[in-house]
Amino acid sequence: MFSLCVYCGSRRGADPRYAEAAHALGTALGQAGHRLVYGGGHAGLMGTVADATLAAGGQVLGIIPRRLVARELGHRGIQELRVVDTMHERKLQMAQAADAFVALPGGLGTLEELFETWTWQQLGYHARPIGLLDTAGFYRPLLELLAHTRDAGFVDAAQVNRLRVDTDPRRLLQTLRDEAALAPPGRPDFNPI
Ligand code: AMP
Repeated sequence: MFSLCVYCGSRRGADPRYAEAAHALGTALGQAGHRLVYGGGHAGLMGTVADATLAAGGQVLGIIPRRLVARELGHRGIQELRVVDTMHERKLQMAQAADAFVALPGGLGTLEELFETWTWQQLGYHARPIGLLDTAGFYRPLLELLAHTRDAGFVDAAQVNRLRVDTDPRRLLQTLRDEAALAPPGRPDFNPI
């Protein structure tokens, strides 16, 4: 079963289009019979994408550190909720369970997770595709910073271009699925810690 790891805000954000996009992605995942892998919370966009995946008949694996269960409202309605001891364990297990990754709008945690996974890809720890859902222009400033970082000579254009950016959740899912099919078989078995 194709598994997509989704990083997104533990808040809903100021623009209702963020939640609409999270809902659309979850619905697309569920309708396609895919599995959502995410941080296991019920708060914010995390809860929205998980609920939409479930409602559309999909599988959901959530992985949450013990100390965040109360704060992020550990989701009790999903098929599998793993409560782990540390944040590092959470991130590693999420990555190991995923065929592809996508970041939706979110805050510091979302950005951290996106960049960690992307730097692991850059270092060759895995070759799974990574997407960015640029809803309502949320990620435009980040894309400008990335272009600047490339122009300043700190990252290869090829690596920047490996980030699949789209505004449409279904199209982005299709792109990631197609690319994941080309990646080496098996999910990441790396342990970058
Ligand atoms: P945020 O985007 O800040 O709302 O956070 C989204 C998710 O990222 C939440 O589940 C946070 O617990 C998680 N998060 C926060 N910090 C980190 C981190 N250093 N590594 C991985 N996930 C994190």
